[in-house]
Amino acid sequence: MSRARGSSRPEPPPGSARLPQSPECPFCDSRQTELANAFGAHASVSSYWCRDCRSPFEMLKWGGGLT
Ligand SMILES: [Zn+2]
Repeated sequence: MSRARGSSRPEPPPGSARLPQSPECPFCDSRQTELANAFGAHASVSSYWCRDCRSPFEMLKWGGGLT
């Protein structure tokens, strides 16, 4: 028993630490979204799924700042 600090926070898997869990849906502005696939059609996008309008959408992982 060496862990004295609060250890209830699981470490996120590498590469997905910056991914929002429920971004706004670009179609209906709903927050009822969930991460469907951390690696979408491209390595720089993630696939999400909107529960409200049932539409898949993708988001850039790094804000589109890569060249
Ligand atoms: Zn939606």
